[in-house]
Amino acid sequence: MAEFDLINRYFNLGHTPECVKLDKGDDCALVVPNFTLKNSSLAITTDTLVSGTHFLPDILPHALAYRALATNLSDLAAMGANPKWFSLALCLPKEISQNENWMAEFSRGLFELANQHQFHLIGGDTTSGPLSITINAIGEVDHQTALKRSGAKPGDKICVSGTLGDAAGALALLLATAQPKTPAIEQALLSRFNYPTARVELGQALSGLANSAIDISDGLLADLTHILKASNCGAQIELEKLPCSAPLIEQFGVEQARTLAATGGDDYELCFTLEQTKLDLLQQHAQSLNLAVTCIGEITATPELTVTLNQQPIQFSQTGYQHFV
Ligand code: ADP
Ligand code: MG
Repeated sequence: MAEFDLINRYFNLGHTPECVKLDKGDDCALVVPNFTLKNSSLAITTDTLVSGTHFLPDILPHALAYRALATNLSDLAAMGANPKWFSLALCLPKEISQNENWMAEFSRGLFELANQHQFHLIGGDTTSGPLSITINAIGEVDHQTALKRSGAKPGDKICVSGTLGDAAGALALLLATAQPKTPAIEQALLSRFNYPTARVELGQALSGLANSAIDISDGLLADLTHILKASNCGAQIELEKLPCSAPLIEQFGVEQARTLAATGGDDYELCFTLEQTKLDLLQQHAQSLNLAVTCIGEITATPELTVTLNQQPIQFSQTGYQHFV
């Protein structure tokens, strides 16, 4: 199957929204933004997933596509943006491009998640080479209430959504540095790695409520550091407060689970800061979204990140994943 057959068969799918005046198939897509917010702006982000760096080459294609899109949705979520359109640049080894089952499963995973958010594929590029997926995602956000990294203030409470460390635990199982204790634990952790949930609705609920936000892709401490640098402040984190899932604790024990939660990447939960007086409203939003939100510490004026366990400072050799080191 050649390039254009691949595009037509696997990607030229989905209903074209009214605002997309020209869809896939020409030199560019043409979109008239149908803005709905008061101070609307486009939120634009790109994420690349490279075989061997972001996923193991034998990952299931359904999960790979889902995850590639989820990581981009997560960046939109971290700004409080509403997902609108995306493009897909796919680099495929020849043998994968000719594997109908692989391509069909990739397409299915992609559109499964895209359809959940009325997120429309408007174009892309399909090339031959080592497997990688680049998605360019566009959303809509009110630029006055968009969740930036730079808005944290001393006294803000620091919160995270969901549970942390599950994806890093899954990676340890995938790399066989740990053996799963039960099939149920293995399943629970792997599904968090393969099918991360971008917290799109939470991000939108936090607009105008939180002072700063970031999505946790590299690791809580590494990503929180970005907020601290951008906001010119510090933080105190209580390690015992980090939300860890039951399967993670069962598999690794509470101590290692906490380390994974503090430094492991790929969970795509949100870390955000807000004034203490807004915590009640936050919990109401979280309840209506059926999503746990946990306070794990506080923003400080002194520009240092301190982590304590039972009030004692504790050091980590690594705060998260870094490329090129
Ligand atoms: P060009 O040569 O102008 O770069 P291409 O031949 O690469 O265009 O692509 C033809 C059309 O198919 C374009 O509209 C492009 O956006 C679309 N397209 C290519 N690859 C993909 C893909 N993986 N998913 C969706 N649309 C794609
Ligand atoms: Mg092209």
